[in-house]
Amino acid sequence: MPELPEVEVTRRRIAPLLEGRTVSRLTTTAPSYFFLTPPAELKRRLKGRRIVGLSRHGKYLFAELAGGDRLLLHLGMTGQLFGAGATSLRLLSSTSRSSLTPEAQARLLEQGASAPRDQHTHLIFHFEDGAPDVLFRDVRKFGKVLFIAAGKLDKRVEKLGTDALEITPAELGQLGGKRRAAVKSVLLDQSVLAGVGNIYADEALFLAGIRPTRSAARLTQPDWTRLLEAAQWVMRRSIETGGSSISDYVQPDGSDGAYQDERRVYARTGQPCRECGTAIVRVLVGQRGTHYCPRCQRR
Ligand SMILES: [Zn+2]
Repeated sequence: MPELPEVEVTRRRIAPLLEGRTVSRLTTTAPSYFFLTPPAELKRRLKGRRIVGLSRHGKYLFAELAGGDRLLLHLGMTGQLFGAGATSLRLLSSTSRSSLTPEAQARLLEQGASAPRDQHTHLIFHFEDGAPDVLFRDVRKFGKVLFIAAGKLDKRVEKLGTDALEITPAELGQLGGKRRAAVKSVLLDQSVLAGVGNIYADEALFLAGIRPTRSAARLTQPDWTRLLEAAQWVMRRSIETGGSSISDYVQPDGSDGAYQDERRVYARTGQPCRECGTAIVRVLVGQRGTHYCPRCQRR
């Protein structure tokens, strides 16, 4: 699932394809739960509109339209935004890749220059200046598209906490310290800080030496500071490497990026800790698979 770094990498790649362009029309799939704003209304509202920017808050992207309206784009589990012309089998998620026969994979590779436009490509932006289309493809359809009129608020956006790269240690300590939940659950709570998901939460807790199951109320301010610094470091590091350093993620241009794996604990159950050699443990915290080193994370 794309977390803050993957969404930010997408934003940086896609923004130049959108900014300053006027939408001539949209192509969409049929109405479904993917479209919080029905496709017919989206087409009407976007036609002829100029996009002035692409911003991000947590895991949400916002195409900013001239005049103040916004189009919320959420990648969900498997959503991908890319410019037409991007080509790579990696544009498919690992799940959908593995569901293809070798013949189908070969056929996809042969199709070469065009990015996939199939039943999973739910939204295509076409532009007046003839610039490459921008495609939103989502195999599992947990992504979302929503038109938000100028001055209007949406409950999804309203309830979001400060972006995880912007929040200060003091703010996190103040909000988090009121919670009795496990610190891992607080990190995942998008109303406290927006953008951290399962992978980066586990990695940050490891780097900070904090046990994921520990009650948030028992953390000291120095704990919160160390934890936030770890979370921001690991997310910035991931952004620098194209969102690919610790996740199975495809860059929006379809390139493979640097696929070095820097995960220290996430999905490394039973493998030796890179610091001390102790086997990494997996437990459930708030229904989420949680990975930690019992020796390094004692705080
Ligand atoms: Zn260890």
